[in-house]
Amino acid sequence: MDCIFCKIVTREIPADIIYEDDNTLAFLDIKPVNRGHALVIPKKHSADMLSASDADLIETTKITKKIAKAIVLATSAAGVNVSTNNGAAAGQVIFHWHYHVIPRFTADGLIPWPHHDSETKTRQELAEEIKKNL
Ligand code: AMP
Ligand code: ZN
Repeated sequence: MDCIFCKIVTREIPADIIYEDDNTLAFLDIKPVNRGHALVIPKKHSADMLSASDADLIETTKITKKIAKAIVLATSAAGVNVSTNNGAAAGQVIFHWHYHVIPRFTADGLIPWPHHDSETKTRQELAEEIKKNL
């Protein structure tokens, strides 16, 4: 499979690896949003979070918590964003599921997620529609 992150797992492509165990790998992002920005991946390929197995989801999430704590300490961060992009429309570029761990600093200038006002009725209808699909 022609996947950059699978190739990092097999060491065909170099990376600044910060953690490895049987199931999970973590390495620094090559184009960090902030200093210390890292990626945490299951070694087993799945395109995104929605198609990952529950076992990989649990393991990767547990390790992401560990990595986030270490990055906060190492960078003296004031906070940390943990996020995952699913699908090109959501900004996903590499289709091997990963968490972004992005340390945050007071007034670091990053302003993600603009919010919009919403109508109560519209929200209620939408909540029902989502519940139907669970
Ligand atoms: P996403 O947009 O969620 O798919 O994020 C992909 C991330 O992978 C981006 O933040 C890239 O900077 C990062 N990236 C791409 N290639 C490499 C690489 N070879 N080593 C480390 N990070 C990479
Ligand atoms: Zn892969």
